[in-house]
Order: sequence, then C-alpha cells, then structure tokens
Amino acid sequence: MSAYLDYNSTTPVDRRVLDAMLPYFAGTFGNASSIHSSGQHARAAVDAARESVAALIGAKPAEIVFTSGGTEADNLALFGIVAADTKPRKHVITTSIEHHAVLNSCQHLETQGIEVSYVPVGSDGVVDPADIRRALTPDTILISVMHANNEIGTIQPIEEIGRVAAEADVYFHCDAVQSAGKLLLDVNRLGVDLLSLSAHKIYGPKGVGALYVRSGTALAPQFFGGHHERDRRPGTENVAGIVGLGKAAELARALLKEDAARITALRDRLEHALLDSISMIRVNGDPKRRVANTTNLTFAGAGGEALVIALDLQGIACSTGAACSSGAVEPSHVLTAIGLSHDEARSSLRVSLGRPTTAEEIDEAVAIIPRVVERLRALSPLSAATVPVR
Ligand code: PLP
Repeated sequence: MSAYLDYNSTTPVDRRVLDAMLPYFAGTFGNASSIHSSGQHARAAVDAARESVAALIGAKPAEIVFTSGGTEADNLALFGIVAADTKPRKHVITTSIEHHAVLNSCQHLETQGIEVSYVPVGSDGVVDPADIRRALTPDTILISVMHANNEIGTIQPIEEIGRVAAEADVYFHCDAVQSAGKLLLDVNRLGVDLLSLSAHKIYGPKGVGALYVRSGTALAPQFFGGHHERDRRPGTENVAGIVGLGKAAELARALLKEDAARITALRDRLEHALLDSISMIRVNGDPKRRVANTTNLTFAGAGGEALVIALDLQGIACSTGAACSSGAVEPSHVLTAIGLSHDEARSSLRVSLGRPTTAEEIDEAVAIIPRVVERLRALSPLSAATVPVR
C-alpha cells in the first residue's frame, strides 16, 4: 500500500481532463490564431475553456487571461498593475504568508523603487483586515492577499479586505491557487480585481493557469509579441493545456461540494487519530477557517525533513513547508510568521488530501505516522524533552 498525501503540491490529471486534452496534441493541433479550419477548431476549444474557467469564478470570459501557471498569473498581476499606473503610485500591501510567487515578486518590486508592506498574520494564520486598512497610504496602488494558504490551509477574509480596497480605491489581487476547486469562488462577492488560478492544483495539467482581470483594469503586459489574449499575454496558446484547465474547472465546479464533504471527513479522521496516538503534537493554523483537505502538524522533536524521507520509505508522500536554499534548510516562512520557533517549524509536516484519497490510505497513514515519529524522536538531537509545545 502507499498513500499520496501531498495534493497541495500537485494533483494527478483527472482521466476526464486527459481525455479532453488528447485530441489537441495531434489531431486538432492547429494554431488558435490561424484562419483555416484546423486553427478555428483550436480557437473554439480555447473559447470554450475560457467560458468554463470564467464560470468557476463568476467572471466574464473576456476577463480571463491564460498564463503558464499560478506563478506567472501572480507576476502578471503585480507587475502589470504597478507598470500600468499612470500616477504613478509606489506602494503595495501584501501579507507575510503569501506564496513565494507573490513574495519574491514583491521583493523584486522593492528593487524597482516600490515600497511593500508585509502585513503580519495572527497565531491562527489569519490577517486582520483592520491591519490592511492601517497599512494603506495615499501612495498605495495594490493589495495582494492569498485566499487559502498552501501550507496550513487557512482561509483569509477576502470579502472584508475587498471592501477595504474598494473604499480606498486601490486594486485588489487574490492568489486563489489553493482555494479554487475547494471553496466557492465569486469574484464579485469577493470584491477582487485580479485573481490567480493554476490547473495542476485542480486535477489539470502542469504549466497552465489563468489570471482573472476585472474589465476596465489597466494591466501592462509583461511579455511582448503577438496580439494574443487581448494584448495582455502574447504567445501561441497552449491549446491542449488550456482545454485541460477548462475541463478541470468544469469538474471542480460540479464536484466541489461532494469533494469538500468527503475530504473534510477523511482529514478530520486522520487528525483525530494522530492527536490521540501521538504526544506533544499540535495542529497549526486556525482549525476551523481552513480548506477541507489540509492539516499541518508539529511533532516536537521529530525533524520534518527526516519525517518526510522516513514516511516516503514507507510509501507515504507528504511534505514540509521548508525551502532548501544554498544547502541549508530554511524553516517555513508561514510557520515562523504564525509564531513557531525555528525548531518547531522544522518539526512540522503538511498532509494534504485530494479527490482520489481513500479511507484505506488514511488508515495506512494513521498506522505508520506515529511509529515513524516515535522512531525519529528517539534518534533526534532535538530531544522531545527540550522542545516545548504550545
Ligand atoms: N500560489 C500558491 C498559493 C501556490 O500554492 C502555488 C503552487 O504551489 C503557486 C501560487 C504557483 O503556482 P504554479 O505552480 O502553477 O506556478
């Protein structure tokens, strides 16, 4: 037996998505910009996918820009808004727990003379909209706040922040890469001007995503070439990938409620069993305000990297939020932002479930994780006795 429990990292392509994509690799392979019928068939498929992605988030098809994924959508949103501002305003607000696609883009903006405020979150992993309001200055052009966090699953109060942005007449971008397919998304209810999506987190292919851009929003392209995507993102369309994203979005919309109920029950069963059988363990982030599929756990005294490797040897795939930079393992910026010490952050594991997850896989994880934690604690220099658990 084995159990893949790393769906926040990526998901398998759903068979129905693959079947929808296959004709566009060799049979209907035309360039969607060509005038001949082969091109026009590809164009029709891209248009249908655009409608499906728009329907998932309550947008108009013309407001969808296809990109190479969530990272590009985030980059296009941030750089595109800042570059298009004619005033120009030079201040951006974000949070300390964003994905690196936003955080590193913000750091790059700082090298271009833009001031960035990184608003902290509470120990529950949730940002206070009042703190976002306090960070506003007359020079603020954009607020960028993620919807669901990729490491701890916490859901941010996007609607409230949307109201703050609207009152201040500031653009609002939301990275919804981890909430699409898990939460109902409606760009008007959320009050966002820009929203990022990625296909490979919703059982679509890797390397394709979308940016929603509210009509009337001035966005400067970040690549230069042909007139694709209404002059917002040039380059011959990735027709098969876009078709895959469209089918994945259609399935996500149809299965959202069913998936969420089943996955919540499995996640809670896993979490309760681990809390019952392992001492000195804590759940990170707000246990209520989070997406159905994610749990992030600290096992005091058991190194997260070693845990991931030891679990992998037993057939269980999960992850840490740690990033490996220049040979050293950096503790997760999300876990340290919610107040964990470096040692605690380094002793944490993200387990994320998905549509294919079965009760048998959860039972398998429940049987294996406690044994592995116990073994690592016995071996670890971070002796459990010296690591306090809050
Ligand atoms: N934003 C969030 C919250 C993510 O979790 C990810 C991927 O892990 C991304 C952006 C980047 O998306 P992509 O892998 O499609 O570039």
